[in-house]
Amino acid sequence: MNSYSLYGQSALVTGADSGIGKGVALALAQAGAKLLINYAHNQAAADQTVSEIKTAGGQAFAYQADVSHEAQVQAMFAELYKQYDTIDILVNNAGLQKDSKFVDMTLDQWQTVININLTGQFLCSREAAKEFVRRGVVERVSRAAGKIICMSSVHEVIPWGGHVNYAASKGGIMMLMKSMAQELAPHKIRVVSIGPGAIQTPINHSAWETPDALNKLLTLVPYNRIGQPEDIGKLAAWLASDEADYITGTTIFMDGGMTLYPGFSDNG
Ligand code: NAD
Repeated sequence: MNSYSLYGQSALVTGADSGIGKGVALALAQAGAKLLINYAHNQAAADQTVSEIKTAGGQAFAYQADVSHEAQVQAMFAELYKQYDTIDILVNNAGLQKDSKFVDMTLDQWQTVININLTGQFLCSREAAKEFVRRGVVERVSRAAGKIICMSSVHEVIPWGGHVNYAASKGGIMMLMKSMAQELAPHKIRVVSIGPGAIQTPINHSAWETPDALNKLLTLVPYNRIGQPEDIGKLAAWLASDEADYITGTTIFMDGGMTLYPGFSDNG
């Protein structure tokens, strides 16, 4: 077993029935982790993720829970412990957009996005951290007592008009992640964020579904391609492994250069 292996580790990925979450779940399973595939509504899609993992020789089960609902999150962790005894890796991936011009944004649009994108990460991280602190490090499994990976976005640093609820949720995740990392590091718990740029998933299909839309999007991406869920999956698997054991409290952007302010590449 090399240090990149996640063999024997138990992982929970929220929103793992679609897009980036599915890509992350497949990559963790490929590295040897046992998975809980969380989903909100689409059981058929979650079952499909489970089936792909099992076909490849891995272990997984699907579980429905709304990450913004405290009791549902706690019930999900209880089921995880029933099936796998403990947790080693949490990936807070679930998220959505409810876009609106700022002056027209309803309180419901604001709260839905904050509740799912930000409070959901708080609720799941709190449950995982409790178990990491209780159990501590198991040397034969990992050098860390536990790993929390938060799916943030380039919009934790790039402001986004028309999406202030989403950008605020991702800015919030940045300080949630850093503050958790600071508090939990003495317990040997690592907390990191991934900041994806444009990844081809259902959340942003209008940005890539036509050649014109894709060309417009690519003006924001110096590397000139749209990212894929597999790109993020490989990064998440590495971040969860002992290869990344000295990384905590920071965001790794994976964005083809979107945070390089490409509008300034020709003198601004
Ligand atoms: P997606 O729409 O394919 O997936 C979103 C997932 O979140 C789905 O599995 C959905 O079931 C789940 N979800 C939504 N509400 C939920 C709830 N209440 N409880 C549990 N699960 C819930 O989109 P995606 O692009 O794969 O997004 C995944 C994450 O990546 C999100 O946090 C998103 O903000 C982030 N992200 C995506 C991009 C991108 O370009 N696609 C860029 C930056 C960040």
